[in-house]
Amino acid sequence: MGQIGLDTEFDIIVVGAGGSGLAAAVSAAQNGARVLVLEKQARSGGTTGIAVGSFTAAGTSLQASADINDSVTDHAIDAGRFAPQEIEAHNNHELREFFLEHAAETLQWLMGMGLTFHGPVPEPPNRVPRMHNVVPRAEAYIATLCSQLTRFGGTLRENADVQSLIQDADQRVIGVRVHYNGTLHEVSAVRGVVLAAGDYASAPDLIARFKGTEYSHVQGINPHARGDGHRMVEAAGGSLTNMGITYGPELRFVVSKRGSLLTRLPAGSLMNRLSRWLLPLVPDGLVRAMTKRLLVTWQHPEDSLFDDGAILVNREGLRFCDERQTPERELKVAAQPAGDAFLLLNEQLIRKYSAWPCFVSTAPRIAYAYVHDYLRLRPDVTVKGSLRRVASVHGIPASALERSAADAFPEQSEDWVLMGPVRSWFTTTEGGAAISQRFEVLDENGEAIRGLYAVGQTGLGGQILWGHGLHIAWAMTSGRLAGRHLASAAAESK
Ligand SMILES: Cc1cc2nc3c(=O)[nH]c(=O)nc-3n(C[C@H](O)[C@H](O)[C@H](O)COP(=O)(O)OP(=O)(O)OC[C@H]3O[C@@H](n4cnc5c(N)ncnc54)[C@H](O)[C@@H]3O)c2cc1C
Repeated sequence: MGQIGLDTEFDIIVVGAGGSGLAAAVSAAQNGARVLVLEKQARSGGTTGIAVGSFTAAGTSLQASADINDSVTDHAIDAGRFAPQEIEAHNNHELREFFLEHAAETLQWLMGMGLTFHGPVPEPPNRVPRMHNVVPRAEAYIATLCSQLTRFGGTLRENADVQSLIQDADQRVIGVRVHYNGTLHEVSAVRGVVLAAGDYASAPDLIARFKGTEYSHVQGINPHARGDGHRMVEAAGGSLTNMGITYGPELRFVVSKRGSLLTRLPAGSLMNRLSRWLLPLVPDGLVRAMTKRLLVTWQHPEDSLFDDGAILVNREGLRFCDERQTPERELKVAAQPAGDAFLLLNEQLIRKYSAWPCFVSTAPRIAYAYVHDYLRLRPDVTVKGSLRRVASVHGIPASALERSAADAFPEQSEDWVLMGPVRSWFTTTEGGAAISQRFEVLDENGEAIRGLYAVGQTGLGGQILWGHGLHIAWAMTSGRLAGRHLASAAAESK
């Protein structure tokens, strides 16, 4: 075994430097523990780093400043109104309530590090505004937590791919094997290993096993979300719950190679300080315009477009599905030769989707993006003109597209809009380790596997976190609490 270029013994090892892992590490280091964070990618961030950044919580100081009266009890009721009944039926109510009780405190903790939030903004069926959006975007969480980790003496190694857990003869987890600098290293964790390795949206084998082989062609938005943490939970004898539940598949436009202006803004601490001073001076309309830019980066086209007659064609210009049937529509898009498709809108649809109440995509009650917004902000996925012109932009045979258009739309148009490519994506997967309220990973009998902890998407514990802003709130809250718990355990043992 090689040397990792540092001590080979820590109090706590965290697997993954996304939101939950960095929150766990900062919280543990802040409370005096010796912490090592191992991140397999060259850059920390994970799915958290590419997210929008909303954080939903009740009883926050920002709600108080906006004269919003709220309670965790009300939030717990409303949180159960987002997912369809058959999915909500799988929720671990006790754990979700425990989480919601601690979410506002977590937001305050993050604000104390200098992060700035816009809002709260409404998102029905939440009865009052609860969604707080980090400024300028979710990468600010990562930049801030990384600098706090350094400040409190924690250690972060990127390009460090954890391969497996080390267990002693009593099955207690005592460290990890990590591939780093071309060598396999063993590193010990005196108090425990925290799995914060995200989800398995890009692990076709796990998707096939738990959800069905027909879903295995659907991609995860984060191509690195490969379920490593879930595999380690299983290998150590831990129990996994809700593994067949996924957020998606949904059709989404592919991401611009350039990124939006907003995604190119720096997200470090200087930007946080500037945001804190400037945000109160920025008119709401401007914040909405900024949000719209994020919206067209990731949001999905509304189903109403298909109900109103928009069609999907593949790269051969052919229709291949009933656009109103979902998830069959998403599965068929994933099964096309190039794994993608395009939406075709005639003049009537272009007009209709150019003004309220018909929008192409939305972050509800915050921003709405219409056809003209996509033409302006996402010219890479939106072309307007004759059928011949829009077909030529994407190398689609014009004659086939003309036939598909003639069959689908009784009236002809001069102008058409072709939007895409769209692909079928899982935003996240919702299965995770069964955990206790101390974040211990539990086996099938509900017994803790000593030395093993899970947070964020790896440690979802059977919660259903539908709606916007609860995943990040959980990542940060579970990380903060797990880090603090482990650090106090470390202090007691010294
Ligand atoms: C486009 C998009 C937008 C979203 N927007 C929002 C939003 O606004 N609000 C919200 O609440 N939720 C949002 N979500 C969901 C949310 O971002 C995630 O659920 C959450 O951030 C996950 O945090 P995490 O710490 O569990 O995982 P991640 O942030 O994915 O971190 C996991 C880390 O572990 C690393 N890792 C994995 N395996 C290993 C290994 N073997 N060794 C070492 N490191 C490893 C990964 O590389 C990664 O860096 C969004 C998701 C997407 C895809």
